[in-house]
Amino acid sequence: MSSEQKLSDILGEFARTMVTDFPIQSILDRLVESIVDILPITSAGVTLISPDAIPRYVAASDDAALCFEELQTELGEGPCLAAYHTGEAVTVSDLRGETRFPNFGPRALVAGLAAVFTFPLRHGDAQLGALDLYRDTPGTLSHKAMTDAQTLADVAAAYLLNAQGRADLLDSTQQARDASLHDALTGLPNRTLILERLEHAALRGQRTGKAAAVLFIDLDRFKVVNDTYGHRVGDETLIAVSKRLVGLLRPGDTAARLGGDEFVVLLEDLQAPSEAAAIAARVKSALARPFVVSGIDVHMTASVGVAVGKDSSGTGAWLLDDADAAMYREKRGDGHDHRFLNLHKQHLAEHRVALERDLHWALGRGELHTEYQPIVAAASGRITGVEALLRWVHPTQGPVSPATLIPLAEQSGLIAEIGQWVLEQAWADRHRWQSQSEDDLAMSVNVSARQLMLAGFAASVAAVLATDHTDPRLLTLEMTESVFVRDSDRALVVLNDLKDIGVMLAIDDFGTGYSSLSYLGQFPVDIVKLDRSFVADFERVVASHTVVSAVIQLAHDLNMTVVAEGVETEEQHLEVTRLGCDSCQGFYFARPMGAPNLETLMRERIDGADPRLPLAVAASFT
Ligand code: C2E
Ligand code: MG
Ligand code: MG
Repeated sequence: MSSEQKLSDILGEFARTMVTDFPIQSILDRLVESIVDILPITSAGVTLISPDAIPRYVAASDDAALCFEELQTELGEGPCLAAYHTGEAVTVSDLRGETRFPNFGPRALVAGLAAVFTFPLRHGDAQLGALDLYRDTPGTLSHKAMTDAQTLADVAAAYLLNAQGRADLLDSTQQARDASLHDALTGLPNRTLILERLEHAALRGQRTGKAAAVLFIDLDRFKVVNDTYGHRVGDETLIAVSKRLVGLLRPGDTAARLGGDEFVVLLEDLQAPSEAAAIAARVKSALARPFVVSGIDVHMTASVGVAVGKDSSGTGAWLLDDADAAMYREKRGDGHDHRFLNLHKQHLAEHRVALERDLHWALGRGELHTEYQPIVAAASGRITGVEALLRWVHPTQGPVSPATLIPLAEQSGLIAEIGQWVLEQAWADRHRWQSQSEDDLAMSVNVSARQLMLAGFAASVAAVLATDHTDPRLLTLEMTESVFVRDSDRALVVLNDLKDIGVMLAIDDFGTGYSSLSYLGQFPVDIVKLDRSFVADFERVVASHTVVSAVIQLAHDLNMTVVAEGVETEEQHLEVTRLGCDSCQGFYFARPMGAPNLETLMRERIDGADPRLPLAVAASFT
């Protein structure tokens, strides 16, 4: 294999390092290993140096290289530090005549070093350290070898920076996540975390066939305690309750505090539903024993509702509601010791039933409509497409947010009907606008995971497309990561069917889940929509720029285009554009708006010359 070929192989390999997990150490190890392979040198080493000049990581291709790296670190002198400080390559073709390194030189000579060539690891303004190439015979390196080495050093530096950025971001989001997932008073998991665990439990239950149960615990006289003894005693009581609760659990069970005096216990892997009843009874009697708080005997009783779920898909959140409903019955006194609800028989919570019933009628009564938000080309600001967003204005309750509406539609089985309606509506609107415009206008429609997995989904999309003779690539279906994670085998089949029809597929809110782009890249995805939290982090989290840049780079490597979501300011627009985003969407350009307003906007933009969509124009349409 020619050295040319080897070099390009190694560069390609680096690119792949990034698409996968790219831990810093393995990038470095691979660098030193491969460079020895393609250049006439005996060994290689890397030292990473932070601004205060303390070396951070070391990689060495063999013991000799390790020795020379350590020597430089120990002496605080050597070609590596010189290259780092000057940002220039350092060439020592014969160490015997070398005077620049009075301490390092003689000791390295004794250890068998004859020549050394060092290249700075730099990226933009950042200096990361240096790559040392060692040789046991004196002599120069060819110009070509020097250029190759610097190329490898530059590429490695770029990837190192990305890896570092991602690691930093993970750290900071992990910390924020920990705080946002736990109750500050008791340290127990909060509602968000318990809902997440419930989802996991539901999935686990499907696999293991074992039941999970939720106990919903409400303290009966807590308000009296608070009013009588004050909030400090109230708080300490809650802490004492949480400790006692945790003490009752089996390993693997979770206790959480929802807020106020409400606690939840998630029991997994139950052998029999009666086990949950037994634990509920234990909880009740344990909480009935007095608590001694600040020298005061606090007496309390608790109402406990139980719900058991088994092999039901996506039952997580409902299980909580059911346990809540059971608890209320007990509190009202129409239960026994505690009510026992079986998921498959019990009634749904009343308000949910009402809203669901109303949703059933909403479509027929014309309460649903779609709004559209422009998606613009990042560089030119031209509108290239719009995203359809579902709206429900409830006759008495007013607007119901999609965050409530979509799960409701999914749970009630209305999602197919409603989703299909959105698709038809959006496609018809697109057709109308297109006839007034020269440029192609793409239409994005959101598809929920459950909708996508329904039998016949691809066929229903094909049916809508058959209503006109438009290029199917003008339809984009947006889906979140959950589609790819839940039942990936089936997802792949459906997505391939959709690709056969010719529509574009987008990953929505990318970065909010935990899948890597490389994983998602196994699916036939065309577009990545970068979640708005990245853009929102630009000012606060330095590493977010690097991460966004890396994601864009990877996405492009995987032949995907990138849309930045949630662009709210001019600075954010400039930054995502600089980082290489293809398209933008966000309040800076336009808020979601009704079809008539969008139509006006499109018409004016065709007549007028304003290539960007100033905030003022956008605002006047909302
Ligand atoms: P999404 O698909 O990520 O849609 C973008 C959401 O971000 C919209 O919220 C939009 O109003 C909001 N947004 C756009 N630009 C900005 C910005 O600059 N700043 C901020 N803070 N927000 C911005 P919306 O309309 O509330 O929709 C929420 C989610 O509901 C959507 O997120 C989508 O996942 C889902 N959804 C909406 N319509 C449908 C639908 O017809 N079917 C399905 N399955 N889901 C839908
Ligand atoms: Mg979307
Ligand atoms: Mg989104």
